[in-house]
Amino acid sequence: MSADPPSDTSAAERLPAASHTAARLQDKTVAIVGAGLAGLRAAWALRVAGARVVVVEAGDAVGGKAVLASRDGFSTDRSLQVLGFEDSHLLRWASEVDLESSLLPLRPVATAQLHRGRVVDCDARSLAEIARTPGVRWRDRARLLRLPRLMNRYAPLLDPLRPERAAALDFRSVSDFSRLYLGKSMRDRFVAPRIAAETLGDESELSRVAFLLQWHQSRWGQARLGVAAAGLGSLAEATALAVDVRTGLRAQQVKELPGGRLALECSGPRDSGRDESFEVDALVMATAAREAGRICASLVTPAERDFFAGVRFGPRITLSVASDRPLTGLPQLVRIPHAEGRTIEVMLVEPGLAGGRAPEGTGLVTLSATQRFAEQHANEDDERVEGQLLSSLEAILPRLASTRRFTCLQRDPLGVPRFEVGAYNALARFQDVQKDRRFLGRRLYFAGDYLGGPRFEDAVASGSRAAATAISDLAR
Ligand SMILES: Cc1cc2nc3c(=O)[nH]c(=O)nc-3n(C[C@H](O)[C@H](O)[C@H](O)COP(=O)(O)OP(=O)(O)OC[C@H]3O[C@@H](n4cnc5c(N)ncnc54)[C@H](O)[C@@H]3O)c2cc1C
Repeated sequence: MSADPPSDTSAAERLPAASHTAARLQDKTVAIVGAGLAGLRAAWALRVAGARVVVVEAGDAVGGKAVLASRDGFSTDRSLQVLGFEDSHLLRWASEVDLESSLLPLRPVATAQLHRGRVVDCDARSLAEIARTPGVRWRDRARLLRLPRLMNRYAPLLDPLRPERAAALDFRSVSDFSRLYLGKSMRDRFVAPRIAAETLGDESELSRVAFLLQWHQSRWGQARLGVAAAGLGSLAEATALAVDVRTGLRAQQVKELPGGRLALECSGPRDSGRDESFEVDALVMATAAREAGRICASLVTPAERDFFAGVRFGPRITLSVASDRPLTGLPQLVRIPHAEGRTIEVMLVEPGLAGGRAPEGTGLVTLSATQRFAEQHANEDDERVEGQLLSSLEAILPRLASTRRFTCLQRDPLGVPRFEVGAYNALARFQDVQKDRRFLGRRLYFAGDYLGGPRFEDAVASGSRAAATAISDLAR
C-alpha cells in the first residue's frame, strides 16, 4: 500500500517586506505578556521587523513549559520535547537566532509501542508499515486505504497556522471518527496512541480535527521525530538576549488610553515594591487563555470572554528518571495504547550523549502520565504518585530498577489545552471577532498553544501569526 503525502501546504506567515516596514515600526512599542515560546517568537519577529519590544514574564526564567531545568547534568524539563523534522516555524526560528549548532540537526527519535507488555519497534511511516502495527486486525488493515482518500478530501481545510479553517469538520471525536472509518483495532492501536502521544489527550474527547491536523502536519506520518540536543529552553534563552525581557513581573490589567494606545499594569513579587506600567502601541498576550481573558477583561467583548472561559486545559504529570546506564542505543519514543491499561501515556528513553540531555554513558527516561491518571491523582501527595508511576515504568523497563540514580516529578495543573469536539468551532468564532476588533483599531493580539495545538510548533506558529498581524496593522 502506498500513497502520496501532501506537499507542504501550510501557509507560512508572511512578514511585510523589511525596509519600509522597519521605518514605520521604529517609533512603535509593543509589549508581550508571557515569555513562553509563543511570546518569545512573537517578540523576536516584532523586533526583527523594527519595533521596540518589551516582554513581561511572571516567572523567574524564560521559556514557559520549555524552561531549562537540570540536575547533575540530566535535563529534568517539564515536557518531553519531542519535535518533528517538519516543524518549520520552530526550526526556522532556531536558525534565525544562530542556534543551529546546539539545537540542530535534531537527533532522530525511533518510535516504539507497548504491545501486551512488551516494547515493540513501530517506526511505521507508510500505510503498509502502519497496517503491520501490532494488535491491528487483518480486516481493519484494508480499511486503512480509506485514509488517503479522506485526507485528500479534507486537505484544503487543514492549515496548521489557521486551524479554525477546519471548523466544518469539528463534529466528531477522534474515537468515533477512527472507529467508523478505520475500525476498532486501528483506533486502539494506531490512531489513539499516536494522537495521545502528540496531544496528551483522550481520543474519546478530542476532536477529530486534532488528529487530521497532526496527520497532515506530519506528512501522513512520514515526518521523522527528533529531539533538540541542548533542549528548547536554549532557544528561549538565546532569544531573550536579543529582546528586553522583564522576569518576575506579572501583568495584572490592561486599559485603553485616548488615541488607542494601551496601558499595561504589572506587579512585581509581593512586598518588592516593583510595580511597573508600560504605555504601548500594541500588546500581544501570550499566556494561557484564562489569564489572557482576566488581564484584558476591560478590552474584550463578551464573545471573547466566553471563549477564554471555555478553553479547557488538562493537568499533566511528568516524571524524569536518571539512569546510571543507557537503556537504548538511540532515543526512542514509546507510545502506550490505553488498551494496555497503564498509567503512562508516552515516554522518551534517551541514551546520554555529549552536549545532550543526559551525560555520556548514562540514560534518561521522561514519561508523561495519562490524562486520566493526572486527573484522578490531582490531590494525592507526590511520593505516592511517583511510586505508582515508577512501578508502572519498571514493569516495562525492568533494567531501570537497578540503574536508577534519581527521579524528578513535576506536576502542571495547566498542562496542555484540550481540543475537544467543538473547540475548533469556538476558535473560528474567536478569530472572526479578532478581525472585527482589528478593523475597529484595537491593537491587541493573542498567541499560545490553545490557539493552534498542544505542541511547541503550534505555540511558535501562533506567535508568528500574532506578530505578523500586529506588524501589518502597525505598518499601515
Ligand atoms: C507534560 C508535557 C509534555 C509536553 N511534551 C511536548 C513535546 O514532546 N513536544 C511538543 O511539541 N510539545 C510538548 N508539550 C507542549 C508544549 O510544552 C506547549 O505547547 C508549549 O510549551 C506552549 O507554549 P506557550 O508559549 O503557549 O505557553 P507557556 O509555555 O505556558 O508560556 C506562557 C508563559 O506566560 C507566563 N505568564 C502567565 N501569566 C502571566 C502574567 N500574568 N504575566 C506575565 N507572564 C505570565 C508564564 O509564566 C509562561 O512563561 C508538552 C506539554 C506538557 C505539559
